[in-house]
Amino acid sequence: MPENLLVVDQLCVSYGSIQAVKGLSFEVQRGELVCLIGCNGAGKTSTLKALAGLLPFTAQTANFNNIDLQTLPAHLRMPKGMALVPEGRGVFARMTIEENLEMGAYCRNDKAEIAHDKEKVYTIFPRLKERMKQSAGTLSGGEQQMLAIGRAMMGRPSFLLLDEPSMGLAPIMVEKIFEVVQNLHQQGMTILLVEQNANIALQIADRAYVLDSGLIEFHGEAKDLISDPRVREAYLGEA
Ligand code: ATP
Repeated sequence: MPENLLVVDQLCVSYGSIQAVKGLSFEVQRGELVCLIGCNGAGKTSTLKALAGLLPFTAQTANFNNIDLQTLPAHLRMPKGMALVPEGRGVFARMTIEENLEMGAYCRNDKAEIAHDKEKVYTIFPRLKERMKQSAGTLSGGEQQMLAIGRAMMGRPSFLLLDEPSMGLAPIMVEKIFEVVQNLHQQGMTILLVEQNANIALQIADRAYVLDSGLIEFHGEAKDLISDPRVREAYLGEA
């Protein structure tokens, strides 16, 4: 029997009088890779930010691992196993790569294990190891995305929220990042992925929800949606 790690019912997010998310209901099962796709302004980032505790929201239900997110302070998300890789990466520009990774483990005090996990990140992203003493602000967009994912992994999350990891990256770098995301998923990580690049997202996701103007338009298995004419026309650029 699949177990839901995240259950969201009637999630709403507003910016003053602008209602960006108008009552989303969805769930993510333990071990699943679920994707939210949709056009610019559909409400994808607002949804992730709300779940991560960065934006106020209302909901009938917003449970993560049976914890009510409506009363869980943002800084307690990570110790409870949730990590966000934000849109635009959000690396600490003046800190080195090494320091950024250590920041990702701020809520841990198992030094030997932290060092072990850092090596694990460097094995996944050898490019970060070569530049470990370099300030993060001098990295390329793709390297910053690697660092943002690596930093999130340092918290040993059970649930990873990924916001537009492909944004602004060359196709080869997008492929590399998605390969890593797919590997994390295959190793058992539960992932909620927000992507504009529906094509690549649907190739690795188990299921997807298609958002439009703050609402879920439809949802289904990724393998079905990838050949759904509505998706192909609106999100994969087919006439
Ligand atoms: P994109 O793919 O372009 O990042 P998105 O689906 O992630 O889009 P959101 O960033 O969640 O969409 O934005 C949803 C709506 O909320 C948009 O209409 C946007 O203009 C509005 N919005 C987002 N942030 C703010 C803000 N800080 N103040 C006012 N309105 C905002």
